[in-house]
Amino acid sequence: MSDLKFKGYAIHDTNKWTDFKVIDFAPKRVEDFDVDVEIQYCGVCGSDLHTVSGGWGQPMLPVIPGHEIVGIVKHVGPKVTEFKIGDRVGVGAQIGACLDCANCKNDNENYCANGPIDTYNAKYPNGDIAYGGYSAAIRAHEKFVFPIPDAIESEVAGPLFCAGLTVFSPLVRYGIGPGTTVGIVGMGGLGHMAVQFARALGADKVVLFSHSDRKKEDAFKLGATDFVATKVGADVFKPWAFSLDLIVSTMNVAEGFPLTELLGCLKVNKSLITVGLPNDPLPGIMAASFTKNGVTMGSSHIGSKKEALEMLKLAAEKNVRPIVQVLPMSKAGEALQAVENGDVRYRYVLKADL
Ligand SMILES: [Zn+2]
Ligand SMILES: [Zn+2]
Repeated sequence: MSDLKFKGYAIHDTNKWTDFKVIDFAPKRVEDFDVDVEIQYCGVCGSDLHTVSGGWGQPMLPVIPGHEIVGIVKHVGPKVTEFKIGDRVGVGAQIGACLDCANCKNDNENYCANGPIDTYNAKYPNGDIAYGGYSAAIRAHEKFVFPIPDAIESEVAGPLFCAGLTVFSPLVRYGIGPGTTVGIVGMGGLGHMAVQFARALGADKVVLFSHSDRKKEDAFKLGATDFVATKVGADVFKPWAFSLDLIVSTMNVAEGFPLTELLGCLKVNKSLITVGLPNDPLPGIMAASFTKNGVTMGSSHIGSKKEALEMLKLAAEKNVRPIVQVLPMSKAGEALQAVENGDVRYRYVLKADL
């Protein structure tokens, strides 16, 4: 066995969600397909904030968040075939699945019928608790470990495994490529990846819908072809009526979600997919808002291993990179506060320091 230290930064009280304390924890009991990873970096995802602050409900406490993990393989189980000691790898938002149901067997393990196991604030079927990446080490089944291409630097790789995969999966599943026009709502951690992946996949046009025009310049730099500041009012959507092949919404707050206006921008029978998961219900909407162009609304849950490997290859080839600000892991509370304040350009990454 390796001599990894399983300790991490934990929250003990959802009312004190910036008050991280270092704890020792027991990783999942070791199994034959497990890989032990010494963590170097972990991205700070909106999910971390929703979880530690209780926005998505009461978490299991203490909770160690973090699911945009980058590290080095330090130990592999006897049945591991994909990795060897010393490999540079990532772990994302899912750490387990039954790997036996029809969904798992069809590259849909992110929709495992027996419940995907989240990387933190989750329990394995045997009762072991999953702790996340604001820590020194993590143990994971090799299915949920991703090889990092040489071209992608460790410091920026983490956000690909949640933010990147979460937007890549719907773009691919809804057929984005040459000849298509994509709308992206929100220019945060997910949105700034979605713009880049839409272009990397070959979309002709990427229209970024953002509340104000503060991030307009950055959006164009990342590949957006058009920018719509939505706070101006409902009229700004009109030029885009019947224009978009897909909308991926990363909006994380329900209040002010211009749902009817966005749906009106879709071509006939196309879809709006929300990967943002606000704490509150989405605004009420008339069924008639879907009839004008016969559109559909839905969601998406991270992505599969197969998609993750495709995403990493494309990111390496087309230079898709998260824009990150790096802080020591001991400043996790500061990073989460910045996420709460909407004050991140465009992803915090914590550098391991335990
Ligand atoms: Zn995430
Ligand atoms: Zn399954």
